[in-house]
Amino acid sequence: MGTGTSMGVPTLGCRCAVCTSVDPHDRRLRPSILIRWKEAGAVGDPSDRERVVVIDSGPDFREQALRSGLTRMDAVLYTHHHADHILGLDDLRPLSFTVFRESGLPIPLYAAPETVDVLKRIYDYTFKPDATYPNRAKVELLPLAARNAVHGVDFLRVALKHGDIDIDGFRFGKTAYLTDVSDIPEESFALLHGLDHLIISALRHKPHYSHTTVKQALLWAERIGARQTWFTHIAHDLPHEETNAALPANVRLAYDGLTLPINLSSANPSQTVESL
Ligand SMILES: [Zn+2]
Ligand SMILES: [Zn+2]
Repeated sequence: MGTGTSMGVPTLGCRCAVCTSVDPHDRRLRPSILIRWKEAGAVGDPSDRERVVVIDSGPDFREQALRSGLTRMDAVLYTHHHADHILGLDDLRPLSFTVFRESGLPIPLYAAPETVDVLKRIYDYTFKPDATYPNRAKVELLPLAARNAVHGVDFLRVALKHGDIDIDGFRFGKTAYLTDVSDIPEESFALLHGLDHLIISALRHKPHYSHTTVKQALLWAERIGARQTWFTHIAHDLPHEETNAALPANVRLAYDGLTLPINLSSANPSQTVESL
């Protein structure tokens, strides 16, 4: 749903070649992905239920949800507490009302303790026990576990470093989403075998203290060995066409609106679609 870095591309006030590019691939909203799948109906129920999960709800979430035609939401998983990943939480409100009318349940939000603390602080009118704001989002913070099951699909937590902080990537079926990474702890590589798609951040060529460069991301991509690697969380330093032309064939810059059929598990190989 978004492949840009924290400021988005174009960056406000910037007149560089990428920020003024007419190529739609050079327009990048804040980072997020959407995973949709059909959950088989119960025995005797012919209707397959569409399930919808997003990883992160940043400041562009509303626009992204409109573009993707989202009308409901089954869960949100958070990678970490930075603004570009959490500031769209309030825009879950209308979707949460629909879900609540359907099921009587809030939307589960899976997050690590530090992210939970920040969300509770920013959205105190939603989460504090004595909250009285009547139109607050019907959402529920849940602790992120090593394995998080959402309507039959497992989202495995993949520990990552983002500068000084510990953050989380996710593996679901044969796809992994690792954004805002500056280092991958050795033990996390064990969770990244046999991937069809690796989606990993690659900010720019110039080093940054909390984000990986294209060069480092390429080294990890080679080690992980996914069938296809997609770069995301991209700054305005990287023009889409020109950067892609210099990458190996199985590595590409992702772009907003990219949609990939993915395998969510061997037990549930039904048609699945993921879009950035
Ligand atoms: Zn970020
Ligand atoms: Zn971040």
